[in-house]
Amino acid sequence: MFLLNLAVIQSCNYDCYYCTMKEWTYPIDHVFGDGKKANRLTNEILFKWIDAFLNPNEWMIKITGGEPGLYPEIEGLVLGLAQRGYRGIIETNGSLPIPKTDNFIRLGAWHLGKPFPVYYDAIVIIQNKNDNWQEKIDHCEKKGIKYLINMQRGASSPWTLEERHAEDATHEKTHYERQLMLYSAGNFQSCPMTKASYGSIFDMVKPMPFLITTVNCQTCPQFHGMDRLIKWWEEDQSIEPLKAA
Ligand code: SF4
Repeated sequence: MFLLNLAVIQSCNYDCYYCTMKEWTYPIDHVFGDGKKANRLTNEILFKWIDAFLNPNEWMIKITGGEPGLYPEIEGLVLGLAQRGYRGIIETNGSLPIPKTDNFIRLGAWHLGKPFPVYYDAIVIIQNKNDNWQEKIDHCEKKGIKYLINMQRGASSPWTLEERHAEDATHEKTHYERQLMLYSAGNFQSCPMTKASYGSIFDMVKPMPFLITTVNCQTCPQFHGMDRLIKWWEEDQSIEPLKAA
C-alpha cells in the first residue's frame, strides 16, 4: 500500500508557534522567487493526475496543509476522491467546513490557545508541555469524543530526543511501506525533511518508485505521525461520526 500525502494548500488561518509546517506555509497568494504561486493546485489537475497514475486499491490519501479547509475546492476534492473509492485522513484544525464522508476521517487538531474544532470526526490532542492537554483529554472523555494523543514534534518540541525516541520505539511498523508527498505548488517530495523536490504535477510526472521513500524511518516525525494516524484509524473501525461538543 502507498500513501499520498497531499498538502493541498500551504496556507493556514492559524499560527501555532509549534507548527511543524510553518516553514512551508505562506499567504494564500504567495508567489515564489521563480514567479510560481505557492498554491497552484486545482481539482482539475489533481483528478487528471490521480486518474492517470493512482489506484484506490493501492493508495491511501492524507489531505493536509496548512489548513485544507482553506483550499477553495475542498468539498469537490473530498467528495470526488470518495466517489472514486479512495480512503484516508484529513488533517485539519477543524475551523473551516470540510465535508463528511465515510471514506475520509477528519482529524481535528485541538491546538494550544485555539477553539475546540467545529468540523471533525475525531480530535487530535497534542502533548505540548505548555498546554494543559490532560484537561483536553478529560473533556473528550467526559463528552464521549473520540480522540488521539499526538506527541508534539518539530523544532519547538518540549520533549527531549530521548523521550521522542522512546515514544517512537512504541510504534509498530505498518504495511504502508512507502509514501509520496505532493505540495500545493505542484512539486513532489519523497521526504519533507530533505526539502528536495522532484518534478511537478503540471508536467504529469508519474509517481515512479524512486520518488517514493519508505515510511519506516525511525527518526522522522512526519512519517511517524502519518504511520500512527493511519494505523490507529485502520485498527478502530468502530469510529462513528461525532458531533461537535
Ligand atoms: S493549525 Fe496546523 S497548519 Fe495551521 S499553524 Fe497550527 S499546526 Fe500549523
